[in-house]
Amino acid sequence: MSTGGFPVDVNATVGGYLRDLAFVQPSRQQMFGYKRAANAILALEAPLTALLDADGRLPRIAGIGPASSRVILEVIETGGSSIVEQAVDHAGQRADIDRRRGLRNHFLSRAETLRVLRDPSYPGPRLEDYQGDLQMHSEWSDGRNTVAELAAACQARGYRYSAITDHSHGLKIAGGMSMAEAAEQRRAIDEVNRAPGVSFRLIQGVEANIGIDGQLDLSASEAALFELVLAAPHSRLRKDFDQTARLIAAVQCPFVRILAHPRGRMAGSRAGVAADWGLVFAAAAANGVAVEIDGDPSRQDLDYTLAGRALEAGCLFALDSDAHGVGQLSYAETALAHARLAGIPVARIVNCWPLDRFLEWLNQTGG
Ligand SMILES: [Zn+2]
Repeated sequence: MSTGGFPVDVNATVGGYLRDLAFVQPSRQQMFGYKRAANAILALEAPLTALLDADGRLPRIAGIGPASSRVILEVIETGGSSIVEQAVDHAGQRADIDRRRGLRNHFLSRAETLRVLRDPSYPGPRLEDYQGDLQMHSEWSDGRNTVAELAAACQARGYRYSAITDHSHGLKIAGGMSMAEAAEQRRAIDEVNRAPGVSFRLIQGVEANIGIDGQLDLSASEAALFELVLAAPHSRLRKDFDQTARLIAAVQCPFVRILAHPRGRMAGSRAGVAADWGLVFAAAAANGVAVEIDGDPSRQDLDYTLAGRALEAGCLFALDSDAHGVGQLSYAETALAHARLAGIPVARIVNCWPLDRFLEWLNQTGG
């Protein structure tokens, strides 16, 4: 975590301490205040150490009050925070905070993501290698934007193609689409693709839910109506028991192309699925299923350590934002940073391929 008292990803470290402080507050209002402060730090584009003035003072940062500032300066100076540790002990929540700290490993702050993208010494994909996003949610399930708005935002980012992947009908909690709605959505997507003078392809995908035994909430005939099927776990993400068989069953399903947020972990909250990842990755590789690096800052799933194991197992990768609004498309950059840290070659990343090759891969077994 630190080199010579200096944290490597200082914003992630500070954000973690502010989150600790949030969880030991006596009131919900105070809790939200520190959570907001933590999120503000994690979203900064520069490391805090670069923002200090000549006298070691912080600039004004929206969402950061005097109490948070004291913690920030203490962490920068000492690498830790006696203020936070005392608050944790005072609240009698040492065990809960230790548990949460154990669930914050290998998460990158926004500043660290940008540093990794800029640093030429990493061998993995560059931003300009990235051809399009393969996990985005629209108003057809739990996203905020229309498919046309998402397509326009993707084009503004220079993408050549992207996939809308709303939740399928089994995931009611996320507003999963009925098949009738999916047919209607297809017409909206076709309209985007018919727009004159645009060399951008919008793909109709779907995020299918992996049930407890590995079965999906889409039949083969339903899946065939989509161009791209992602499969992802959304339940039993806080259990210790082994779920290797569940994930292997999902990647062996012939119409699945991408295993999305494979663990289902959530920063500081849950570990996600426990599995023998060597076996899961071997099954994904054998079936030509890409494993996803989901760049949502609270997911970062797979992270670079597991992605490195998937690379050794011979897997393909998809790097996605999991955006639920156009403002979150930049989350794909977090996924790119993990891929760079894991040293994943561009050739292994399906959404670094040109459109023709990508569509060919989609049509090989799935779609
Ligand atoms: Zn999901």
